[in-house]
Amino acid sequence: RVKHEGKNGVQAFQPTMTEETAGRVDVERDLRGALARNEFVLHYQGQFDVQTRALVGYEALVRWQHPTRGLLSPGAFLGIAEDSKLIVPLGEWVLQEACRQAAAWGSNTRGLSISVNVSALQFEHPSFLPAVQKALELSGLDPHRLILELSESSVLSNAGAASQLFTHLKALGVRIALDDFGTGQSSVSMLRSLPIDILKIDRSFMHDQGAQKEPSEVFISVVINLAHGLNMLVTAEGVESSGQMALLGELGCDSIQGFLLARPLPLRDIEAHLGDCTATSPVD
Ligand code: C2E
Ligand code: MG
Ligand code: MG
Ligand code: MG
Repeated sequence: RVKHEGKNGVQAFQPTMTEETAGRVDVERDLRGALARNEFVLHYQGQFDVQTRALVGYEALVRWQHPTRGLLSPGAFLGIAEDSKLIVPLGEWVLQEACRQAAAWGSNTRGLSISVNVSALQFEHPSFLPAVQKALELSGLDPHRLILELSESSVLSNAGAASQLFTHLKALGVRIALDDFGTGQSSVSMLRSLPIDILKIDRSFMHDQGAQKEPSEVFISVVINLAHGLNMLVTAEGVESSGQMALLGELGCDSIQGFLLARPLPLRDIEAHLGDCTATSPVD
C-alpha cells in the first residue's frame, strides 16, 4: 500500500519513485567515476562591453561528456551532484581547470576576466577558500581576473557566512558577482553590507520590450542605478536580440552576455577568437 512520508520522516515505498530513484542512483554512480575518468569539460561564453562590444571576459560553464548519453548540460546532473555532495570535488575541478586554461590564454588576453559558478553547498564547505587559493597558486592567474558567481538566493540563505567568506575572498583579490539577480529577495542593506563587485541580472528579465515600458525595463533600470550607486558593475545575461542590447546600452548596463553575441563554446572554438582579440579588448 502506498504510504506518504511518515511521522518519523522515513519515506515509504512508492511505485513511481523506484524508476526515478534508480535513475538517480545510476547518475550518481556515473558521476563519481566521471571525475576520475576526466569526462567533464568547460565551455566558455563571452561577455562583452555593451558600448564598445569588446570582449571583456568569459563565463566557464561545465558540461559532462557522457560516454553513452552524449554532451550533458548542467541541468541534467548538477542537482544530483549537489544532493550527493559531489559538487564539492566537481566545483574544485571547475575552479582549477578554468583558472589554468584562462592563465594559458596568452599575453593578448591578460585583461579578460574568467567567471566561475559556485554552488551554495560548495561555498558553505570549509574547503572552499583553500580551493580558491590553490587554483590561483597552481595556475598563476592574476586573482583580479577571477570572478566567482554566486546565486543571489544562495548568498541570502547564508548571509552571515557569506560576509566572512567574501572578506577573505576580497583579500585574495578575486571579484564576486551575484548571479541570477532579481530572482531572490536581496535588500539594499544586504547589498551595501557585502563586498559585491558585480550584479548579474537574471535572464528572465530579458524578454523583448514592447511599445510600452514593461515592468522588467523599470526593474533593470533601477538595478543598474542601484548597482552604480553602490560602486558595482552590472552584467545582463540571456541577451538574445539587438533590441535588448540597445535598451541595455541606453540604460547604462556595463556588459552583456547572451546568444546574440556568443553561445557557450568549447575551448578549441574560442581559441581562434582569443588569437585576434587584442584589437578590441581593453587590455592594459
Ligand atoms: P548561469 O550561471 O546563470 O549561466 C547562464 C546559463 O544561461 C547557461 O546555461 C547559458 O548557456 C545560458 N544562456 C546564456 N546565454 C543565453 C541566452 O541568450 N539565452 C538563453 N536561453 N540561455 C542563455 P547552462 O550552461 O546550461 O548552465 C545552467 C546553470 O548551471 C548556470 O546558470 C549555473 O547556475 C549552473 N552551472 C553551470 N556551470 C556550473 C559550474 O561549473 N558550477 C556550478 N556550481 N554551477 C554551474
Ligand atoms: Mg553564472
Ligand atoms: Mg546567471
Ligand atoms: Mg541564470
